Amino acid sequence: MSLIPHLINGERVADQGRTADVFNPSTGEAIHKVGLASRETLQKAIDAAKAAFPAWRNTPPAKRAQVLFRFKQLLEANEAEISRLISQEHGKTLEDAAGELKRGIENVEYACAAPEILKGEYSRNVGPNIDAWSDFQPVGVVAGITPFNFPAMVPLWMYPLAIACGNTFILKPSERDPSSTLFIAELFEQAGLPKGVLNVVNGDKEAVDGLIEAPEVKAISFVGSTPIAEYIYSEGTKRGKRVQALGGAKNHAVLMPDADLDNAVSALMGAAYGSCGERCMAISVAVCVGDQIADALVEKIVPQIKGLKIGAGTSCGLDMGPLVTAAARDKVVGYIDDGVAAGAKLVVDGRGYRVAGHEDGYFVGGTLFDKVTADMRIYQEEIFGPVLCIVRVGSLEEAMQLINDHEYGNGTCIFTRDGEAARLFCDEIEVGMVGVNVPLPVPVSYHSFGGWKRSLFGDLHAYGPDGVRFYTRRKAITQRWPQRASHEAAQFAFPSNG
Ligand code: NAD
Repeated sequence: MSLIPHLINGERVADQGRTADVFNPSTGEAIHKVGLASRETLQKAIDAAKAAFPAWRNTPPAKRAQVLFRFKQLLEANEAEISRLISQEHGKTLEDAAGELKRGIENVEYACAAPEILKGEYSRNVGPNIDAWSDFQPVGVVAGITPFNFPAMVPLWMYPLAIACGNTFILKPSERDPSSTLFIAELFEQAGLPKGVLNVVNGDKEAVDGLIEAPEVKAISFVGSTPIAEYIYSEGTKRGKRVQALGGAKNHAVLMPDADLDNAVSALMGAAYGSCGERCMAISVAVCVGDQIADALVEKIVPQIKGLKIGAGTSCGLDMGPLVTAAARDKVVGYIDDGVAAGAKLVVDGRGYRVAGHEDGYFVGGTLFDKVTADMRIYQEEIFGPVLCIVRVGSLEEAMQLINDHEYGNGTCIFTRDGEAARLFCDEIEVGMVGVNVPLPVPVSYHSFGGWKRSLFGDLHAYGPDGVRFYTRRKAITQRWPQRASHEAAQFAFPSNG
C-alpha cells in the first residue's frame, strides 16, 4: 500500500510516524495509508507558509489571478482523473464526483477576479484636502480543515479565494479520502503557485489542535460535523483567531398540497439519495402538508427508491454508491433500527443491501420512513445516509414551526405553485439557504454559503463576498498633504465637518 504524503513547501513529505488506512468503500479493501502529521511536521508547513507570505502578499493581484486561471485550466483538463480519485475513496458516483469538481471550479473562477474584488474603496475630500480609502489586506497564514464528503469542492471553497486575497494556506483535509485533495493541490503548484503558498498536511485531531494552537495561524475555515465545528470555533476564537466553522444539518423539504408532484419526487430522489445522502445539503426530511400529498408522495416515490441503481461508485450510470466507511454504514443501520424501535413506519428498508461482486462494500439501500415525529432520534439527528423521513403536518405554519424549532438551519426548500406561500416561507424560515422548487439551494460562487443556528459558528459565510471579507483585514487610511505656506493652529475640539 502506498503512503499518501503531505505537501509542504512544494515537496511531498512522507511522515514516518502514525498512519491511517484509506479504504475503497465499494470493496472494503484498504488501498492506501495516509500519514497523520505530528506537531513537528505541521510546524514545517506553518514555517513554509509564514516564509512564503511576504512575497505572495506583495505579488500584484493580477499576477495571482494569472496563476488561478492556469489552475482552472488544469482542473478542467484533469476532470476524469480527479473524479476517479474522489469516487475510489469516497464511493460517490463518477458523475457526482465530476459535479462537485465543477462546483469547486466555479470558486476558482470567482477567485480569478482578484484585482476586481480587492480594489478597495476610495473617497476624495472627506475633509479639506483629505482623502480616505479602505484597503483589503491579507490576514497572513490561514488554515482550512475539511470533511470527507466533498474532498474536492470544499477545499476549493477555501484556498483559491484565500490565496487570491494574498494569504498563504495550510489545508488539513479529511483523512478518509485525501488523494483527490492532494492531487488538486499539486495541480495548483503546476500552475505556477510559488512554493509554500499552499501546503497540505494530512492528519487527525493532533494536526487540527496544532493549527488551533499555532500563533502564526491567524484564521481558520472549518467544514464538518457540528461538535467539531463548535470545538474549533470556541478554541480558535479563544486564541484571538478568526474562525468560520460550518457544521452539520437536517434539511427539510416542504411539500405543499399544490406542489407539482412528479417534479418534486424527482427532486427529492436526487436530493435525498444522491451521494448516498452524504451531503450537508441533502434533504433528509419531507414535510408533507396534509395526508393527501403524503400518501401521493409515498405511492410515487417507493418504486423509484426500490429502483435505485446502486453499485461501485467508479462504475458508470449509477444513482448511488456505498457509504464512506464501515463505521458510517453501521451508524446509518443503527439509526434505521432506532427509527423502527421508536415506532416510525419503515416503508423501504435499505439494511442488508448487497451488490453482486462487491459483497464487502459499505452499501445501504435507499430507505424511507413515514409517520416520523419530532421526538424521534431519526428526526432530530443528522443520519448522513440514504434515509428519507416523512413528517405529516396540517399547515404551512406548522411545517415552518417544525423547521424553525430544529437545532440545525443549513438548507431547506418548499415545493409549491403558490407564490404567496413561497414568499412567506422565504421571509420567515430560520435557515441560511432556501430553495423554492429547488431541492439543493447551494449558492453559486458569487453568493456565499452558510447555514444558521448550529449549522454555522461565526459571522461570515463561506466563499463569495463573505469569503473575501473573511480572508482580508480592512484597513482604513486617511491622508492629508498640507498645502504649502499654510499653517493651521492646534485644534482641540474633535475634528468634524460641522
Ligand atoms: P468531521 O467533523 O468528522 O471531520 C471534519 C474534519 O475535522 C476532518 O478534517 C477531521 O479530520 C477533523 N476532525 C474530526 N474529529 C476531530 C476532533 N475530535 N478534533 C479535531 N478535528 C477533528 O466531519 P466528516 O464526517 O468528515 O464530514 C461530515 C460532516 O460534515 C457532516 O456533519 C456534514 O453535515 C458536515 N458538512 C457540513 C457542510 C456545511 O457546509 N455546513 C459541508 C460538508 C459537510
